[in-house]
Amino acid sequence: MEHRTEISSLGEFGLIEHLTKNIELQNSSTIVGVGDDAAVIDHFGKQTVITTDLLIEGVHFDLAYTPLKHLGYKSVIVNISDVYAMNATPTHITLSIAISNRFSLEALDEFYEGVYAACAKYEVDLIGGDTSSSQKGFIVSVTAIGEVAPGKFVKRNGAKKGDLVCCSGDLGAAYLGLIFLEREKKIFLENPKIKPDLEGEKYVIGRLLKPEARKDILDLLSDAEVLPTSMMDISDGLSSEILHLCKQSQLGCVLFEEKIPVAEETRLAAFKFELDPTACALSGGEDYELLFTISQKDYEQIRHSEQISVIGYMEDPEKGKKIITKGGNTFDITAQGWNAFR
Ligand code: ADP
Ligand code: MG
Repeated sequence: MEHRTEISSLGEFGLIEHLTKNIELQNSSTIVGVGDDAAVIDHFGKQTVITTDLLIEGVHFDLAYTPLKHLGYKSVIVNISDVYAMNATPTHITLSIAISNRFSLEALDEFYEGVYAACAKYEVDLIGGDTSSSQKGFIVSVTAIGEVAPGKFVKRNGAKKGDLVCCSGDLGAAYLGLIFLEREKKIFLENPKIKPDLEGEKYVIGRLLKPEARKDILDLLSDAEVLPTSMMDISDGLSSEILHLCKQSQLGCVLFEEKIPVAEETRLAAFKFELDPTACALSGGEDYELLFTISQKDYEQIRHSEQISVIGYMEDPEKGKKIITKGGNTFDITAQGWNAFR
C-alpha cells in the first residue's frame, strides 16, 4: 500500500507550513503572503476585482472520478475565470479547505499539486487561506483577486442594441464528460470487474476535469484593441448566461443555432447518449468559456480568430430572447434551453 501520513501527526500549523513552504511569489504586488494574520497586496494604482467560489464534495464534485490533482487545478481555474470575465488579470488567491480524517497528507499534497500548477500557469500567488476539519466530505473555498486599469473592467450590463454576441472556444463538452463519468461510475458500482472505457471520450472528459481559463481571449482582444461592451464566463450553460446578460443590459437577443460552437468530439459523444449537441451547449455547464458582446465596428478585428464565434446579436427588449434553429424555426431561449427543442 502507498505510504499514508495522518494529517493529525503534523498538527494544524505543521500542516499549513507543509502546504505552503514552497511558495515562490511571482507578483511584485504581493507585499505580504502566507504567514501573518492577513496578506498585503499593492495594486499600484490599478483597480481590484475580487471573486469567491465554494466547492463542496457531493455537490460540486465527486471524488469517485475526480483525481485530487485535477480538483485542485479546477478550484483555481473556476475562480480566475471569473476574474478574466471582468477583463481583469488575476494576481492572487486565498484557498480555504475543510478536510475529514479520511484524507491523508499524501492526498492533500496531490490536491495542492494541482493548485500550484494552476497558480504557476496563470502567474497567480497563493497568499493565504484557512484550514479546518470537516465531519464529512471535503470543502474547498477559493477567493481570487485581480487587477485592472481604472475603468477597464467589463460588466454584464454594458451591451448595446446591435452589438454582436460572441463566445470563445466550444461549448457542451464538459457536460458530456460528466454524463460519461457518471455512467461509468454506475457501471463500476454494479460490477467492479468492468474496466471503464473512456478512450473515445478523452476530449469531453478532459474538458470537465481539467478546464482552462481563457486568458488567451483577453490577450487577443486587447491586442486587437477591442474592449467588449459586456462579458461573463459560461459556467452554467449558454442559455442561462445569455439571459443574465440580456437582463442586466436590459435588452433582447437573437442567437443562431448553427453558429454555436460545438466540437466534433462533443457532437459524437452527444449522439452516443441520444442527446442534442445544441441542447448540451445551451444547458450543460462548466465550459468556462467567455460570453461577450462587441460593437459591430469591431467585427473586422476579431473575425479571423478561430477561437471566437459570433453567435448572434443584441436586440430591443420587446423582441425577446430568441434562438433561430438550423431548420429556420424561432424559439424563446429558456434557462433550460433544450425545452424549446423537444
Ligand atoms: P489565523 O489564526 O489568523 O486564521 P492560521 O493559523 O489559520 O491564521 O493561518 C496562518 C497563515 O497561513 C495565514 O497567513 C493563512 O492565510 C495561511 N493559511 C492557513 N491555511 C492555509 C491553507 N490551507 N492554504 C494556504 N494558506 C493557508
Ligand atoms: Mg485560520
